[in-house]
Amino acid sequence: EEVVNRIAAGEIVQRPSNALKELIENSLDAKSTNIVITVKAGGLKYLQIQDNGTGIRCEDLEIVCERFTTSKLREYEDLKEICTYGFRGEALASISHIAHLTILTKTATAKCAYKASYENGKLKAPIKPCAGNNGTQITVEDLFYNVIARKKALRSPTEEYTHIMEVVGGYAIHNSHVGFTLKKFGENTDLKTPIKSSVIENVRIIHGNAIARELMEIELEEPLLKLSLRGCITNVNYSHKKGTMLLFINHRMVDSQSIRKAVDSIYSTYLPKNSHAFVYLSLELDPRNVDVNVHPTKHEVQFLYEEQIIEKIKSCIETKLLSCNS
Ligand code: ADP
Ligand code: MG
Repeated sequence: EEVVNRIAAGEIVQRPSNALKELIENSLDAKSTNIVITVKAGGLKYLQIQDNGTGIRCEDLEIVCERFTTSKLREYEDLKEICTYGFRGEALASISHIAHLTILTKTATAKCAYKASYENGKLKAPIKPCAGNNGTQITVEDLFYNVIARKKALRSPTEEYTHIMEVVGGYAIHNSHVGFTLKKFGENTDLKTPIKSSVIENVRIIHGNAIARELMEIELEEPLLKLSLRGCITNVNYSHKKGTMLLFINHRMVDSQSIRKAVDSIYSTYLPKNSHAFVYLSLELDPRNVDVNVHPTKHEVQFLYEEQIIEKIKSCIETKLLSCNS
């Protein structure tokens, strides 16, 4: 059974940035306003996230890493209207099966903080009271230490760190009211956004002024399709070899091949060859129309009325590009 759990966990968490994404979403669910991430060896050795959110009650610490433990789903009915990020109660459990996981947490009303270490979904030792600030600090060490194949496949800490930067940068832009900090252990900060910043300011911090000053906001409401879109796009971005496409659906960073293709096709008509754009799209759809569970990593999404929705997005972007080119 242990092997089965480990294999399942390795499917959900394929690389350090997948784990980090789940942890960031947990911190956001817990209403944090400041999130600090510290990394060693691209997250393969050490990945820590400190937030200032609600914290976890001591009595919940015992079961928080058991599968399907979630405080976010009270009844099956809720499944149809999930507004928080997570709902399956699998992230912490999965991580605890393939890494050494430690949680240090304090709720506002608790007299002290508590520290707990986990292995294979279970507490490794009794929970210890200790000193700590309000909020939660989660430390993931030696990720994939018991999944040799995965460990071998991920040999480049530098590449893993790039993925981590993308995840942190994306969430920082989308959640500009929350401060994000990313650094390598013992080194200077690589990325820092202030609390209560703005989307454009955070694009400037993360992608540079050349892109930030080209940003144009787009917005669209389609009540019939239960679609609401906001975002920022650039007209032309000569400074980057690769374009940037940031997609959030219901506040979750995801990928959708069909949206990506649609956006690429517009830009290949409007931009000179080999130049690329910065595109950040935040879609809100009726949660009942979105299937985030097509793939265990939950990156690729599918949704109902995809064709109609993509047509609307396309014409919204095209209108914007035409208006600034005329
Ligand atoms: P899910 O997010 O789907 O509920 P997780 O495994 O990601 O499942 O987390 C399990 C539970 O642990 C959450 O429901 C939440 O109650 C608690 N939790 C995890 N991370 C945090 C955090 N940073 N702050 C407060 N509570 C947390
Ligand atoms: Mg979660």
